[in-house]
Amino acid sequence: MNILIASSEVAPFSKTGGLADVSGALPGALRQLGHQPVVFTPLYRQVRQSGAVLEPTDVTFEIPIGSKVMIGHLLKGTIPGSDAPVYFVDQPEYFDRAQLYQEEGQDYKDNCERFVFFSRAIMEAIRLLDLPVDVIHCNDWQTGLIPALLRIEYQHARGYEDIVTLMTIHNMAYQGHFWHWDMLLTGLDWKYFNWKQMEFWGNLNLMKTGLVFADAINTVSPRYAQEIQSDLGCGLEGVLRQRSASLFGIINGVDYSLWDPAIDPHLAANYSVDNWTEGKATCKAAIQREFGLPAEPNTPLIGLVGRLADQKGWDLVADVMQRWVNRENVQWVILGTGEPRYHQMLEGLARQRPDRVGVRLGFSDPLARQIEAGADMFLMPSRYEPCGLNQLYSLKYGTVPVVRETGGLADSIRDASPENLSNGTANGFSFQGYDADQLEVTLQRACDTYNTRRDTWRNLVDTGMKQDWSWENSARQYVSVYQQMQRQREVAREAAETTH
Ligand code: ADP
Repeated sequence: MNILIASSEVAPFSKTGGLADVSGALPGALRQLGHQPVVFTPLYRQVRQSGAVLEPTDVTFEIPIGSKVMIGHLLKGTIPGSDAPVYFVDQPEYFDRAQLYQEEGQDYKDNCERFVFFSRAIMEAIRLLDLPVDVIHCNDWQTGLIPALLRIEYQHARGYEDIVTLMTIHNMAYQGHFWHWDMLLTGLDWKYFNWKQMEFWGNLNLMKTGLVFADAINTVSPRYAQEIQSDLGCGLEGVLRQRSASLFGIINGVDYSLWDPAIDPHLAANYSVDNWTEGKATCKAAIQREFGLPAEPNTPLIGLVGRLADQKGWDLVADVMQRWVNRENVQWVILGTGEPRYHQMLEGLARQRPDRVGVRLGFSDPLARQIEAGADMFLMPSRYEPCGLNQLYSLKYGTVPVVRETGGLADSIRDASPENLSNGTANGFSFQGYDADQLEVTLQRACDTYNTRRDTWRNLVDTGMKQDWSWENSARQYVSVYQQMQRQREVAREAAETTH
C-alpha cells in the first residue's frame, strides 16, 4: 500500500514532542511490513540544522492563500534507518524561523496560513510528482485541512479518486482554532463554515475539519480514544461520539533502534536487562555530576523530562517538590521547556536546594536520554496523556515510571500492587486522582520500595526492561485501519453506482 504521512514534525529532523518520534518511526515499521510510506513535512530551520541531506527536486508550487499566491519548493531526503523518502516543503517566509509553532509561549500569528500552505502543497505535490497514493495519513490540526481539500476539491481529479484519509489525534487540546476570517485562507467556500463541518463556536477549527472529513480517525491509545469521547474531548466530544464507529485507539510504539540503553551512544555506560545494576549506577553517577548534585548512589533519583505545560501535571510536581525540598533522602533531575511560570518555579527550587534539585531549562535529546538512564524513577503525573512516550522509554531504560492513570499511561503502566506483583505484571507505580496528596503517597511508596524492598524493585525493573513496545504491532493495527477504510470506500462506491 502507498501511504503518504503528513506531519508537522519528524524526528530526527524537527521535534517538539511525541508526534515527531511517531512520524519518524512509523514509516520504517510500515516498510518492514512491505508497504511504501512517504513522509511530507515542512523545511524548518531545525531541519537544516539537523544536518539532513537535502536533494533538490524540480517541483515548485504556486499556492493561492487568500488573495495572494505563495511559491514553494520541494526537497527530498530519507528517514535514517529506513529507505522511506521524506519530502520537505520549503517556504522560508513560513518555515525558516527560530521555532516550529511559537516563541516564548506565543503562537506565531500566521500559524493558520503556514499550515494551510503546507496542506495545499501536499495535495499539489501528489499531482506534480505523479505519486501513487492509497492513503493520506494526517496528524493533528496542522494537517486537518487535507481531508476536506481531498473531498471538496480533489476527489474527482485523476490520481486522487481512490485516496482515503486517516486523521490521527496526538493531542486533543491543540485544535488549530483561528478567527473566522481565516476561512478565506483555506480557499474553501463559506458554506463549509457551519457547526457540522469547519466551524466551532464562531471560529475556524482545523482539527474538527479533519475529524469531520476524514474516512477514519484514530488516537494514540485505546484509553484516550474513550476519554476524548467524554471529559477529555475539549469541546469536540460530540463530534467524536458521532464518529465512534470509525474511531480507533492505537498505542504508539518505540523505535528500539534509537531508544535502547544497550546501544544509546549518549550514555556513560551501555547496559541491558542482564547487567543493568552496574550500567545504571554509572549513568546515575554521571547525571548527578552533570547536574551538580552530590554523588549519592543509594538516594532515590527522580527524573522528569517534558514540555512544561499544564497537561504534564507540573502544578502537582511543584506542590510535592515544595513539600519535599528539604528532605535529604531524595534527588530530582528535571529537563524541560515551556511556560515561563514553570521555568520560574523550577529555577527557584534549584536555587533553594542545589544539592537536591537539578534543573535544565531547554531542549536536549542527549540529556533526555541520560536522565532516562541515570534516574531510578521517572515521574509523569499528567492531567491527561494521549499516549506518552517517555514512560515507554523509561521501561526500556530500567527506570521505574510513576504515573497518573490516564490515557496511554493507564494502558502501559501496571501499579506495583500486591496482586500485580504476584502475577508478574507490575512495572511501575500509579495513582488515579489529579491530586498532590495522591502523587505524594505514590512517590513515597516508590521511594520506600526502592529503599527497603530491593528485590521487588529489581523485579519491577526487570519486568519493564523485558517488555516489548516496539512499533511492529502498532504498525499492523494502522495497516488494518487503512485497509478497512479502503474496503468501506469500495462498498460506498458500489452502492452509489447501483443507485445511479
Ligand atoms: P508530548 O508529545 O505530549 O510532548 P510524549 O511523552 O509523547 O509527550 O513525547 C515527548 C518526547 O519529547 C519524548 O521523546 C521526550 O524525550 C521529548 N522531550 C520533551 N521535552 C524535551 C526536552 N526538553 N528535551 C529533550 N527531549 C524532550
